[in-house]
Amino acid sequence: MKKIKEIYENRISKWKKYSSYEIIKIKNCDYIVPSKNSVAEWYDPIENEEELISDVLNMGKIVADTEKYEKIKKTVFDFVSKYGLLGWIMYLPVNENFYLESTVFLTENEYFIFSNTTMDTKKYIEQFQIEPSKENIFGTAKTLGRSPVYELIFSKNYCEPVDWAICFLQEMYEHFRAKEMIYDPKYNPLEKFMLMKKIENFHHVGVPYVIKYYPTLGTYWIFNSLTMIIETACLIALGQKESPIAICKHCGKYFYREDIRIEYCSHKCRNRYHVYKSRNKNKKQLEK
Ligand SMILES: [Zn+2]
Repeated sequence: MKKIKEIYENRISKWKKYSSYEIIKIKNCDYIVPSKNSVAEWYDPIENEEELISDVLNMGKIVADTEKYEKIKKTVFDFVSKYGLLGWIMYLPVNENFYLESTVFLTENEYFIFSNTTMDTKKYIEQFQIEPSKENIFGTAKTLGRSPVYELIFSKNYCEPVDWAICFLQEMYEHFRAKEMIYDPKYNPLEKFMLMKKIENFHHVGVPYVIKYYPTLGTYWIFNSLTMIIETACLIALGQKESPIAICKHCGKYFYREDIRIEYCSHKCRNRYHVYKSRNKNKKQLEK
């Protein structure tokens, strides 16, 4: 099983999350923001990539299969409460140093359609701020190798639209669902070909590899956002013939397996499956 932590061993991927979040309305849209009294905590999402990817897929499935917006919103809120905000402000621009330039160049991506692929930098940054222009991002010198934009991302003034996280979780799940459908005899060769194309179209520009003097001189992979970490985890899992991601035979949830022979997400599910199986067997024998 290939994992991010093995492929990108020397990396900068620490992320910040707050102890609590809330949903507020800005211009009639739902945004997730850190709560005022929350406390910040640093962690490395890649350390526990197995749980991260399982959560992304299970939550993505709920989002895809549920019609009630409140339940979808709650799922996304739970995700952010556990892992922090996704870091779209850094993930989306093509020009990494956009905060020094007047225009932001945005990638065309599968999650949202921007009306333009370029945007005025000030306006672009403002959409991620609860109080616009609070942070002095423009022209600030880089500190410790990270761009000053992170001062905004990791502050309590940073917000992201709920809808973006909904689209993202659903899209990640859809790729895995497409892969399952390829192995399903119900679909004809043309349909399978289309599904393969869908999976092949899923890509990201890559994780930058750079030299840094801090924390110590070395060459590091730089993960610019939680979005990038999740996408990389999904790409690595999807690209393996013997998938490390499986659906639990008992509870139907996605889980990460260290061995392809494992069929249950936990010992509990394994035991329950066998208990139910023998109960059903006894029932059938009694009926005879
Ligand atoms: Zn299970």
